[in-house]
Amino acid sequence: MSIAGNVGLRDLPRICPLISRRVQSSADTTETRVVQVGPVRFGETRPVVIAGPCAVESREQTLQVARAVKAAGAEMLRGGAFKPRTSPHDFQGLGVEGLKILWEAGRETGLPIVTEVMDPRLVQIVGKYADMLQIGSRNMQNYPLLVEAGRSGKPVLLKRGMAASLCEWLGAAEYVAKEGNLEIVLCERGIKAFPAGEYSRNVLDLNVIPAVKEETFLPVIVDPSHATGVASMIEGASCAAIQYGSHGLIIEVACDDEGTAPPKCDAAQAINPATLKRIVRFVDAQTESKAMRKAHAF
Ligand code: PEP
Ligand code: MN
Repeated sequence: MSIAGNVGLRDLPRICPLISRRVQSSADTTETRVVQVGPVRFGETRPVVIAGPCAVESREQTLQVARAVKAAGAEMLRGGAFKPRTSPHDFQGLGVEGLKILWEAGRETGLPIVTEVMDPRLVQIVGKYADMLQIGSRNMQNYPLLVEAGRSGKPVLLKRGMAASLCEWLGAAEYVAKEGNLEIVLCERGIKAFPAGEYSRNVLDLNVIPAVKEETFLPVIVDPSHATGVASMIEGASCAAIQYGSHGLIIEVACDDEGTAPPKCDAAQAINPATLKRIVRFVDAQTESKAMRKAHAF
């Protein structure tokens, strides 16, 4: 007897043939497929560090964080203009005004930007300002949104649903791919499993990194900020993710200069620019030793 909807890894070639490593075997799918966002390349030896505020709150705050992120050596800027909040009474983001601020911060620093889109009707406008569209955890199975993001032709950062299996996550990526868009980067951001909530916000599922690499040729990065929800855990989680083979990190950062107000969203998980700098240095060191090991084959 089989249970309807009970799918496993063996079903992946049928669920997502376009992104399945087991089905596709052309030259650019034998290794990781490189996804390019401006000058930034996901899927190569050097992991990509994306950093920025949880939300775009104001022009001053965003420019300040963007400059700090650039100075710390990150390669891309993040920031939410449309925020998915648990309470409708909480700050929802600045919307299109926020997109314009982010665009300006990206222009000034030279960092490509990634920002979340929640509504299929807003894919066009978000795509006008952003270099990469983020589909958040809560919308991983918003199929009309995935289709629109696929049609936009823009690179897509597809976060894992907080309770999604690997099959469901890759099935969601297939919706984007089916529209002819293979510019997809997957992002593990923690799942709701015991003991989430007790001492961390979610459970960081590092084991999914090698599993993703086994099943698909798409690059996969890790969001240690939402996975842990605790600022003091971010550096360790970032380093562990890199050592586990992550193609990058997306990290929430807030400036802690005197007189700077704490962020309106996710303040407990915001790291300061000095911590970000240490993480970037770790990424650099790991990249160097990996390249060396490759060159000398040890
Ligand atoms: C975010 O990155 O801003 C965010 C809301 O993340 P997630 O969708 O993973 O919760
Ligand atoms: Mn956040």
